[in-house]
Formats: sequence, C-alpha cells, structure tokens
Amino acid sequence: MRLHPELRKGGRVQELVAKIEKRAPKQAEILSILSEHKEPLAVRTLLSYAKATPSTLKSLHKKHWVVLSKRAVSRDPYAQLEIVPPPQFELTDEQKSVLAEIKQAIDREEYTTFLLHGVTGSGKTQVYIEALKEALARGKTAIVLVPEIALTPQMVQRFRSHFGDDIAVLHSRLSMGERFDAWRSLREGRKRIALGPRSAVLAPLQNLGLIVVDEEHEASYKQEDAVPRYHARDVAIMRAQAANAIVVLGSATPSVESYFNAKIGKFRLLELTRRIDDVPMPHVELVNMTREPRPGRKMPVFSRLLKEKIEEKLQRGEQVILLQNRRGYAPTLMCADCGYVEMCKNCHISLTYHVAGHRLRCHYCGYSKTAPEVCPKCGSPELTYKGRGTQRVEEELRSLFPHARIVRMDLDTTVRKWSHDRILGAFGRHEYDILLGTQMVAKGLDFPSVTLVGVITADLGLYFPDFRAAERTFQLLTQVAGRAGRKDRQGEVVIQTFSPTNFALICASQHDFHSFFDWEIRQRRELAYPPYGRLIAIEVRGLDVEAVRKTASEIGARLRQKAGRFTVLGPSPAPLSRVRRMYRWHLLTRQARHVEPSGAEMRQAVREVVQDIVPVARKQRVTVTVNVDPVNLL
Ligand code: ADP
Ligand code: ZN
Ligand code: ZN
Repeated sequence: MRLHPELRKGGRVQELVAKIEKRAPKQAEILSILSEHKEPLAVRTLLSYAKATPSTLKSLHKKHWVVLSKRAVSRDPYAQLEIVPPPQFELTDEQKSVLAEIKQAIDREEYTTFLLHGVTGSGKTQVYIEALKEALARGKTAIVLVPEIALTPQMVQRFRSHFGDDIAVLHSRLSMGERFDAWRSLREGRKRIALGPRSAVLAPLQNLGLIVVDEEHEASYKQEDAVPRYHARDVAIMRAQAANAIVVLGSATPSVESYFNAKIGKFRLLELTRRIDDVPMPHVELVNMTREPRPGRKMPVFSRLLKEKIEEKLQRGEQVILLQNRRGYAPTLMCADCGYVEMCKNCHISLTYHVAGHRLRCHYCGYSKTAPEVCPKCGSPELTYKGRGTQRVEEELRSLFPHARIVRMDLDTTVRKWSHDRILGAFGRHEYDILLGTQMVAKGLDFPSVTLVGVITADLGLYFPDFRAAERTFQLLTQVAGRAGRKDRQGEVVIQTFSPTNFALICASQHDFHSFFDWEIRQRRELAYPPYGRLIAIEVRGLDVEAVRKTASEIGARLRQKAGRFTVLGPSPAPLSRVRRMYRWHLLTRQARHVEPSGAEMRQAVREVVQDIVPVARKQRVTVTVNVDPVNLL
C-alpha cells in the first residue's frame, strides 16, 4: 500500500491530514505514515504500526487517497542465504567441558535443564551448534529459540552453514503458505531443527532430543498480550520433561529466576567465564551527568567524555554503537509558561513528538495528531521538548559530527519488511560509522570493528514501578556493552547516568553478574517476589472508570476473604491507568514459596473469585484478565 502519487505534490498530504484529523484520526495517521515512506508498506505492517483496522484502509482506498500496489513478492532472505562452509577452529577447554556434560545428558535420554551462563562473546552459540550435532547424530530432532529481534540473517547463516537444509526457520514474516510448508517439513521429518522465536517451541517434531533457549532472560519469551499467556521457557521445560529431552538455557545475563533455580539444583549450571581468544572485557566508564557543565542551562545530550571518544573512534575508522532506549524525538511536549503537557486522548500517557510529519504520537494506542504551534491552553508559543528520544540524539549527533555516516534503528525506521536486517547488514559492511538505536542495537550481534559503545541515558528503565526494573537495566547495559571489542581490540563503553551510585549500574560497569544477583536476590527474598514467591496479576479494564473501580474492589474484597496463606495487593489504578480509552485497575496476589511452592492454592482462589465476577462484570462491559507469573507489571 502506498500514497496516491497526486498527494505527494506540494504538501497536499499535510493539508489533507490536518483537515481530516479530528473526524478520522486513524485515516490521518495512516496517510502521515505513508507520506514518510517512499516505498510501499505491507498492509499487515501498516495496520500493526498504526494500530488500525482494515476498515480504515478500505475507506482510504475508496477515496483514492491510497493505492494498493501488487505486493512485490517478498523474497525471504533467509531462504536465499547461501550455505557457506563453517569456519574451522578447535573448541576452547571451557567449551569442551560444558559440551561433555550436555552430551552425557543427551546419551542418558533423561530430562535435564542446563543453564549456560557465558559472558558475551564466550562461544555460547558454538556450544549450541555442537550440542545440536550430538542430538542429530543420535537420531533426535531439536528446537532453537531466539528472541525475534535476534533472528538476523547473520545468525541464520551461521546455523545453516552447519546444518544446511536440515533447518526450518520459523520467523514471523513468513506468509501463511510458507509457514505451513515449514511446519509440514518438520512434521514429516524432512527437516530436523526448528529455529525461531517463542512460538517455535510448539514446532511439530517427533523424537525431540534438545531444546535450546538463547538469551533465556528475554521478556519477549512471554506472550502477555494474547491468550494463551505462555512463557516459552516454561513450555520448553514442560515439553522436554514429557519427551525425556534436554533443555539448554543460555545467556550472558541469566534471569534472576533461572540463576536461582541453578543454585538450588533444579537446573544444572554450566559456565563460560572467558571470551574467545581471551579478548578482554570492555573497559566501562560511568559518567555522572549531574556534574556535566550545562551551557545555556541546557543538559547536554553528550558528555565531554563520550564526545571525545566518538571523535577518536571516527578518526581511526572504527565503529560506534549508541543506545538510547526511547524512540521519537521527545517523550513530552510541555508549555514553558503554564506547564501544559499534550496527553493522548485515549491513554494516560504523554504524546511523543516525532520529527517526521511534525507529529505527536501515542506509543501505546497509535493515536497521533499534528503538533501544535502554540500552547492549546494558554496560547504561549514557548513549547519545549522534555526528555530525549533517538531522533533527538540523532539530530545532536549529526550536528556534532557532520561527516560521520549515521544510521538509526528503532521501531520507526524498521516498519518496512526486512529493514531491520538491511540496516544491520549495511552497518556490518561498514557503510555506516555509527549505529544509534533502542534496545534493538543490544542484541547478539558480532561486529568486529565496533570499539565503542555509548549509552546516552542509562536511567530510562530504572525507576519503572516494576520489581524487575533493576534486573532489566542490568541486562540491557551488560548486553549492549558486550558489543564492544573483539579479537585484537579492547572495547570501551561509556554509560551516561544521573544515578551513578545505583547498584545495578555499578555491577554492569564491572561485568559483575554475581554481585548483582546476590544483591537482587536479597531484595526479592525480603519482599517475597519471584523466585521466593509466586505472583498473579489481575487486570480489570473498561470504559467506565466507576464500574472498573467497583469490580476491582469486589475482587479485592472476595480475595481477602480467602487470603491468609497468600497476600492481596491493591486494587489500585495500574501505572498505565488508561490505555486505548480503557481505564485499568489491577490487583496482585502473592504467595511465598516456602508456604506453598506451586502457588496452586492461590491460583485456585483467584480462579474461583474471577469466575464468579466475570459474568457480572461483563454486563457492565468490564473485562477481567488473569496473568499468572506476569513479566510486565505496568
Ligand atoms: P556468544 O554466543 O557467547 O556470543 P559465539 O559462539 O557467537 O559467542 O562466539 C563468538 C565468536 O567467536 C564467533 O564469531 C564464533 O564463530 C567464534 N568462536 C566460537 N568458538 C570459537 C573457538 N573455539 N575458537 C575460535 N573462535 C570461536
Ligand atoms: Zn501554556
Ligand atoms: Zn494512546
């Protein structure tokens, strides 16, 4: 789908968008997205990015504002990848001993879960590959799970170089037909390895011997926004138990839960403590941004140190990765005179300013509108941008280093099919000097000329009202830092922060997973959070805030009658108290493991209460959802 060529002429599309915005906001949004892309966008992509429905597209089509182009046949680059012979090397001693343990378990055909904790670049992927060979050699089949975002051509090629056409890659961009073919080839045993994101855990394989879960700490393994709300890691373990198969969970930053399970003997811990070729871990510097000079009283985007380092790397012809885990230009547009902030009309969240099309966008529901020129409340022209997203960092970067070749990678630049892969490919070929982006830039990539990683604002996720905030920050920083330095060059990492004494940051800067774990596990124990307790999140949502509040209170009261061996927290408005016009309240129940390890009693109580309430709530158009072991608490 693309914009009608007539509309591209002389800003006509902007006029049109402004005109229909009030009455047909989704149509306006789609037009503005299309105006930002010269090449056609796939209908499915467009709908999910704009969070719109097909009827919106139909109306636009009827008015001849958009044209349906025959879809350029999506050439699946993974299927086209050449099979190149793998590099030859001998496994390191650490790899050998880890592999020996896995091999023994495969031979025993007895369910075992291993947790492979290996620092970044320690050769974990090579261990998976060797373990897969062992499984296949014994006539078994296998599944390899990777986070969607880490499923790059680089990674697929690496597996294909060892296993050729024995691999079915199950990525989300397959068409229905392609997906069907892939599943059938697995079911009929024509392919013996399924490689893909979380849903690949359900691949129809007979005689399963091994399941690998790479980056096992990743939150994306939990499907949380749709039924079934499963965690692929848990499903992998259940499936392996049933099939007497082996699970290998791998990560440089294991989840607190998994590492705990390894410590208490539920999983078997395997460690790779050194990088391949003894490449030193990167040198990490924390920069205290509160101490940076503020010319014109403005907080600079780049500290003096980070600026210097970038300059130095550019001069040496080396590459740089910069992380700012927030997209858009600025998350808040605020009136300097009266303090008015532009909020989404559907959600309790401020609108993010986007440079393209001069628009304000809601990152939750997709609502968007043209940014105002003056304050809608007091008429002042003094509108200021608060906070910084990737677009703003990019702007600053371009003005500081006008000769650098810069590429940005975030949700906004990867709307088009394969654009994510294209950006990484081009960066890998050194067509760019600097790769800037959100957490997408932190995932499992191996670029030999990257010698500097910079984190613009490390604090972004630190103060979320979620007990996993510190853990997520530690993981993200450790992962992105791991992108720096290979073979002959020591990497450098500069982390800018307003909280230089934060323990998670200090541990990340010292590559100290164990201290972080010890500290974090103590907090969890004190508060009976996982792994010391089990949680159930109950979310109540609806258009009428009073009905939502009442339902939530009723659930709270009934649960409290049953409580005693478990605790009920709330109800209270959720941190995101309104999304897509729906008010959201939530409750959390918690049961300590030493009281009841399985949490079955609490689950039973929640089930009974919710079953009673749901029919009443439904009449008032209130929805109640239950999420066992929630991963996202916002
Ligand atoms: P990780 O998954 O822990 O990041 P990889 O398995 O990707 O580590 O290994 C990092 C790099 O080192 C890769 O380019 C890989 O091909 C290479 N490598 C892995 N094992 C060895 C080895 N034993 N000898 C030489 N190079 C290796
Ligand atoms: Zn104002
Ligand atoms: Zn919204």
